[in-house]
Amino acid sequence: MSIALLGGTFDPVHNGHLAIARDLTDYLGKTHVKLMPCGIPVHRGQSITSAEHRKAMIDLAVINQPKLGVELGEIESTEPSYTIHSLRRIRAQIDEKKALFMCLGMDALNHLHTWHEWECLLNYCHILVISRPGAESPSDPTLTRWIQKNLCEIEPRSVQKPAGALFFCELRLLDISSTQIRHCVRNGEAIHSYVVEHVADYISKNNLYK
Ligand code: ATP
Ligand code: MG
Repeated sequence: MSIALLGGTFDPVHNGHLAIARDLTDYLGKTHVKLMPCGIPVHRGQSITSAEHRKAMIDLAVINQPKLGVELGEIESTEPSYTIHSLRRIRAQIDEKKALFMCLGMDALNHLHTWHEWECLLNYCHILVISRPGAESPSDPTLTRWIQKNLCEIEPRSVQKPAGALFFCELRLLDISSTQIRHCVRNGEAIHSYVVEHVADYISKNNLYK
């Protein structure tokens, strides 16, 4: 079994995240897909909902999803969340021959070159970029050179090595974002088509995003 991580703030977790995670289990074959909520995010200026609430909502979202897991290392840590640190920690815990995929949306790829030690990420994992409505491929020259150098043409499920390759894929395109959901709640609009019912109930009971 390989491992695929989908990192993010999940503020809140939504049907776009869940659809990607479920599609990844089919697309990658024998793979355990895990959502990886960050603790203290490095890249966000704005304050985010407490780790406790975000974790509770993820637990509610995956309760009926036996194929999906949660990687709690970042959200349970009081240190700022650097992906490279998480990858090193996870890599040290698993078989060195096991493929580890870090999955991110196209919007996130556009900022990858600002991540701490970003050029070392591929030493520990493969990177799988998922198309996202409204997000274009990077135009930054450093990033485009890096993409050309590392892009792998074979299917990710056929890759033999445990880390080091970059892949692009198109899964179901769902035009949903946490930003849009927070906006809806603030305006008193329904969010039932964007999040699972238990998460919508949790948001309303705990008065989040008002
Ligand atoms: P926000 O609007 O607060 O940034 P978000 O919807 O982008 O929230 P994140 O927690 O930032 O959610 O996303 C985690 C990861 O999932 C990122 O890599 C992001 O690109 C990806 N992602 C989230 N929603 C989608 C989607 N609808 N399609 C493709 N990728 C997505
Ligand atoms: Mg985002």
